[in-house]
Amino acid sequence: MSLRIVVCVKYVPDATGDRHFTDDLTVDRDDVDGLLSELDEYAVEQALQIADEADDAEITVLTVGPEDAKDALRKALSMGADKAVHVEDDDLHGTDVMGTSLVLAKAIEKTGYDLVIAGMASTDGTMGVLPAILAERLGVPQVTLLSEVSVEGGPNGTVKGRRDGDTASEQLEAALPAVVSVTDQSGEARYPSFKGIMAAKKKPVESLDLDDLDIEAEEVGLEGAWTKVDEATERPARTAGTIVKDEGAGGKQLAEFLAGQKFI
Ligand SMILES: Cc1cc2nc3c(=O)[nH]c(=O)nc-3n(C[C@H](O)[C@H](O)[C@H](O)COP(=O)(O)OP(=O)(O)OC[C@H]3O[C@@H](n4cnc5c(N)ncnc54)[C@H](O)[C@@H]3O)c2cc1C
Repeated sequence: MSLRIVVCVKYVPDATGDRHFTDDLTVDRDDVDGLLSELDEYAVEQALQIADEADDAEITVLTVGPEDAKDALRKALSMGADKAVHVEDDDLHGTDVMGTSLVLAKAIEKTGYDLVIAGMASTDGTMGVLPAILAERLGVPQVTLLSEVSVEGGPNGTVKGRRDGDTASEQLEAALPAVVSVTDQSGEARYPSFKGIMAAKKKPVESLDLDDLDIEAEEVGLEGAWTKVDEATERPARTAGTIVKDEGAGGKQLAEFLAGQKFI
């Protein structure tokens, strides 16, 4: 039996570009270039390595996002994933983490899975909670923030991994099906090869909307959101830095400056 791996990948605004809120205080996703969240490349890489070790495996990459989010899926496919699922619907505008996890859970159930792999956090929302909420919704174990991960025993086996804390490393395992998230310490993500980029153009990308997933519009979007942004202000323009000239007391001045800023 094939090991079915679903990797959750997010299409995020390019952090090097100018980012803005729209009038309803949601992130402006139309006027900015986006890309596959860098932290999700680690999740794709771990899926590819697990698939290499398995007798038989199939990797599906899944995103909830606007039309352009297909770019993130193509990148993951060009790295080596087998197929993709894209959930897109106008009613998703304003969906928060609760709604996103609902949509992902329904799409994962529809696709079929033994192992779900997510990144440690997205590079825009950076909540880092989605994998845990997703596991709860799916009713399966969660093993989060792994810097090493492997699967033993195929689809009916176990997922094992190492979680590194400040003072100790834990060895964790869970019976499949399960949800894991991997950190940026799990191993460099591969670059897509030219062959991979060409092959990705022919790989299947399934498009789903809320109807396909039996989700009502009120369960997602701004209406269904558990969180609300009341106010947002532009970050103040950068001011000129403070130059400390060392005329004998430079070290002291530097320490005073850092203490004044509460850095030390
Ligand atoms: C069109 C649209 C509009 C949205 N508007 C809002 C809004 O107004 N307010 C708001 O709070 N949220 C909004 N969201 C949802 C938001 O962008 C996040 O996806 C969600 O809140 C999860 O938070 P996070 O990214 O911080 O998750 P984290 O917990 O930081 O993410 C951890 C991991 O979960 C997975 N993941 C997260 N999001 C997705 C995704 N969309 N698709 C696939 N995998 C994912 C990735 O593997 C990621 O590494 C919107 C989403 C869409 C698609």
